[in-house]
Amino acid sequence: MKTIIVGGGIMGLSTAWGLVREGHVVELFEQGVLPNPLASSVDEHRLIRHPYGDRTGYARMIDPAFAAWDLLWRDLGQTFYAPTGTLALTGNGADWAERSARTQAAIGRPMTELSLGDLRRRFPRLDARGVERAFWMETGGVLFAQDIVAALARHLESRPGVTLHPHTAVRSVDLEHGRVVTEADVTHEADVVIVAAGAWVGRLLPEFARTLVPSRQVVIYFRLPEAQRAAWSKGPMVIQKTGDVGLYFVPPMQGRGFKVGDHSFSRSGDPDAGRDAHEDEIRPLIKRCRDLFRGFDSWRTDRVKACFYTVTEDERFVVEKTGAKGWLMSPCSGHGFKFGALMGLELARTIATNRDPASHARWAAGEESDIHVSLPASPPNGGEE
Ligand SMILES: Cc1cc2nc3c(=O)[nH]c(=O)nc-3n(C[C@H](O)[C@H](O)[C@H](O)COP(=O)(O)OP(=O)(O)OC[C@H]3O[C@@H](n4cnc5c(N)ncnc54)[C@H](O)[C@@H]3O)c2cc1C
Repeated sequence: MKTIIVGGGIMGLSTAWGLVREGHVVELFEQGVLPNPLASSVDEHRLIRHPYGDRTGYARMIDPAFAAWDLLWRDLGQTFYAPTGTLALTGNGADWAERSARTQAAIGRPMTELSLGDLRRRFPRLDARGVERAFWMETGGVLFAQDIVAALARHLESRPGVTLHPHTAVRSVDLEHGRVVTEADVTHEADVVIVAAGAWVGRLLPEFARTLVPSRQVVIYFRLPEAQRAAWSKGPMVIQKTGDVGLYFVPPMQGRGFKVGDHSFSRSGDPDAGRDAHEDEIRPLIKRCRDLFRGFDSWRTDRVKACFYTVTEDERFVVEKTGAKGWLMSPCSGHGFKFGALMGLELARTIATNRDPASHARWAAGEESDIHVSLPASPPNGGEE
């Protein structure tokens, strides 16, 4: 069976990896260089953590997500992950951390509640003013995202049965007949066409443009005095939710950047427009950093990056069979990367084994479903260990 994949971010590449492991032929089209620095997947890091508010489906998916990454590390011959632990903070009436703790307890992975005194003692670099409750979990860490997609693209290049087409934008897709037409007006056909086009998906499939909305987000990389940087380089990641806003902090593991991002969706922006960040996009995040981090006034902005989420109304993933021969794959809403390897393996499995597409869509949306994840225990066909 031959599959065409449009998009060379983590979702397209992981699905190609999964299909090749299942013994299928794949052609992947990417409009830019591979990996494309404008893609959502291409930044120094992305976080993976168990706490998931009351989204039990996604909370349960974290263990299989880790197992899928382990399988990828084995195929790539290298691990692109550093554990940090997860510190979840709540304040100003928000209860995300408490809901996460309740969900984790219900699925048998209890979080430890820290008193505010404990929080100050264990994490003296944080200013706990405004924090109402704090929860700690040993699990969670940093996935080195851009290194992962680069290594995965290299790995696929060397696999029989895979053809990668960087710098080849697809102009239109026909998911009924399994065809794509490139900007150069060349038509390609396959048994299955998967659209994993990230924030550009509405261009190819306008019927989804209102459901899958590009959302421009800024992240700030900071330079810190050496002693502070050294202290933070042991972790933890911090997820702070106060009121309806949120901040996440990525510690500078293994010499990587020190990054803070804002989880509030802008729900606006054009992924093809300029990526320079504006002062008014940065200001609210700077203010939140000043409130949360001790010594913030000695930090300097190293660089600011504008990147795109593709968000749904309820933040659930959309992975749906569309037309007789097509799939739309958009697991994002700002939290998809951690599931990239798992989403790819499982979509490949569903396509290869004719599992029920509706069950697959429910599973990807974090809902009850008949899909049972069973990751291959042995090396892939032809896989080197
Ligand atoms: C600032 C930020 C922070 C995030 N933090 C986290 C986090 O901590 N944890 C987490 O789990 N997730 C996080 N995410 C979300 C995660 O990064 C995304 O969900 C994930 O990377 C989406 O991958 P994708 O493959 O769907 O899209 P992309 O990576 O955008 O890939 C889509 C690709 O399709 C290509 N393409 C588009 N149209 C065409 C076309 N017509 N022809 C050919 N190619 C095309 C694009 O060039 C692009 O390379 C974050 C996202 C952002 C932006």
